Amino acid sequence: MELRQSPPFMDDDLLEFMDAEPESSALAVGDTPDAWRILVVDDDPDVHESTAYGLRGLDIEGRRLHLLHAHSAADALTILRYERDVAVVLLDVVMETDDAGLTMVTAIRGELGMTHIRIILRTGQPGQAPEIDTIRRYDINDYKTKSELTRTKLYTTLTTSIRSYDQLRRLDALYATNLELVARLRDYAFVDRLLGLPNRTAFVQHLDDTSQSGLHAGQSIGLMDVDQFAETNDMFGHVYGDLLLAAIARRLAEVHAGRGLLARVAGDTFALLGDDAWVNPRVLRAVFEEPFEIEGVLRPVSICMGFVRCDDAAVSGLDLLKNASIALKRAKESGQGRSAYYSLEVGVATRERTRLLHGLQKAFDHERLFVVYQPQVSLQTGRPIGVEALVRWRTEDGQFVPPDQFIPVAEQSGLIVAIGAWVLRTSLHAIGQLRARGITGIRVAVNVSSVQFAQVQFLAMVDEALRDTGISPDCLELEITESVAVMGMVRVAALLREIKARGIAVAIDDFGTGFSSLSYLDQLPADRLKIDRAFVTSLDSGRLGARIAEMIVPLGHQLGMLVLAEGVETEAQATILRDLGCDEAQGYLYAKPMPIDELLLWLEQRLGTVL
Ligand code: C2E
Ligand code: MG
Ligand code: MG
Repeated sequence: MELRQSPPFMDDDLLEFMDAEPESSALAVGDTPDAWRILVVDDDPDVHESTAYGLRGLDIEGRRLHLLHAHSAADALTILRYERDVAVVLLDVVMETDDAGLTMVTAIRGELGMTHIRIILRTGQPGQAPEIDTIRRYDINDYKTKSELTRTKLYTTLTTSIRSYDQLRRLDALYATNLELVARLRDYAFVDRLLGLPNRTAFVQHLDDTSQSGLHAGQSIGLMDVDQFAETNDMFGHVYGDLLLAAIARRLAEVHAGRGLLARVAGDTFALLGDDAWVNPRVLRAVFEEPFEIEGVLRPVSICMGFVRCDDAAVSGLDLLKNASIALKRAKESGQGRSAYYSLEVGVATRERTRLLHGLQKAFDHERLFVVYQPQVSLQTGRPIGVEALVRWRTEDGQFVPPDQFIPVAEQSGLIVAIGAWVLRTSLHAIGQLRARGITGIRVAVNVSSVQFAQVQFLAMVDEALRDTGISPDCLELEITESVAVMGMVRVAALLREIKARGIAVAIDDFGTGFSSLSYLDQLPADRLKIDRAFVTSLDSGRLGARIAEMIVPLGHQLGMLVLAEGVETEAQATILRDLGCDEAQGYLYAKPMPIDELLLWLEQRLGTVL
């Protein structure tokens, strides 16, 4: 349609173009296997030539361009049947017939089912523009008259189209990875890696699955915990400890083969579900009478046991296991080699929790809670980028109660709302202290319990804390876990958008442990994905955890998030993570959580050395 004298590129290259030797405007521009494939469809040979000329030597996103040429719609469709990986079609609207171009678009999207390929329509005259509706319906990327498409414009529109093609393809790949990751996490979630036994989650799940049907009448759960296991580990090392556990697992499996379900529910705790006739203190004690042979040496093993009868079908699997644990705890309190049954003295345990809660309440009122900060660093440069605020409780007699113990109690009682708000203010105040010392560019990450997050006043509380402390929202990051999904993803996503609109960052904490909501991940507009310590710990063992970390990093990146690894303790782990492309890390290798005074010194020193 175009005359040779008026090629579609109207810029300075024109003259050069006119003088060009036919070879120099060779039709294929670059021909490497990973070049972007672009199909030019036009019945005018000049357009092919000028397009090739215009794109000569150009790269898009670091890849060369490879042009394919079709002179009719039929040719084009034949090419597309064989060349599925075409990124863009530059399509002449009017060819043999007035609507040959649009007919072809229908075939690409419909018959060939190529939904990712990007389509740029070109026409000789402005009057031939298709209806907006058509553009939308066929997912057409751009529409240009040929004279509009100067070399630069063609390059720009191709770049945009290629980017979006690439993104669509990556999303597909992401979806596939996601499925594999879900399967792996599920496996990770149900099988104990060391012994290959069902783990705690699997055990609870089994109890839940079978309890409704009244299958547990006449059955009991027995928990067996190795006495002084921690000491054994310290004295002889983890390898020895692992061998001991494996020997115990083997014997339990042999003795109870086919009689019930055996699981490892905690480090040195085994659980057995089965008939009262088998699962009782007398029978199980007998299993441990003979010593175990470890590395050629016979070793006697003493255990404490806790039992619960499963008659009450109304009790959930988790509660049954909890009750068995309460019994185990009672047994341990009375000494080594003891056992106990769970009874209605549950009250004792409940009272204990209540005591913890009262203690916590009092500690909070008397300001015996404090916040420590753990640095987060860039894996590339080692530069500190932020700190995570972690709450601490020191009791009157100077003992520390770990957050893993008191946070759940605070959550159940609702006290977490007040504590959380206080941690937030304290953390923002700490940023103020950094600023006063001239330290900027450090963000504070504050853990937000899903109980807090679900509060209607949550956002107002955050706003107020920011306003009162005068700290810029971009110095704050909120860490949420996948458990927020219980609120319903629509609400969560809406709330996160509001948070992000304020410039506050969002991190997904403990990623990989709440596998069930993994599929929601792409609906969470978060900035950072934190790989849980469990996966980092198993990095240098070459176990499944390593594969999981390997998959999480690209997953986070695909979703436009930075990936931070938690609990990095060794240089070897840091190296593996860096090689995997992980962005940031946090862990004892860099620093333990520390009070603000120590943090100030640490940061000053660290920033001084990396600057
Ligand atoms: P988290 O948010 O995943 O915090 C990371 C935990 O890993 C912290 O334990 C930290 O001390 C520990 N850690 C960091 N690096 C290493 C390492 O290299 N090795 C090992 N073994 N551990 C490391 P911490 O302080 O005991 O906190 C436990 C959990 O309690 C936190 O897990 C978080 O879920 C919760 N928590 C702590 N403070 C708060 C808070 O203010 N609010 C809420 N809602 N939860 C909190
Ligand atoms: Mg955290
Ligand atoms: Mg975490």
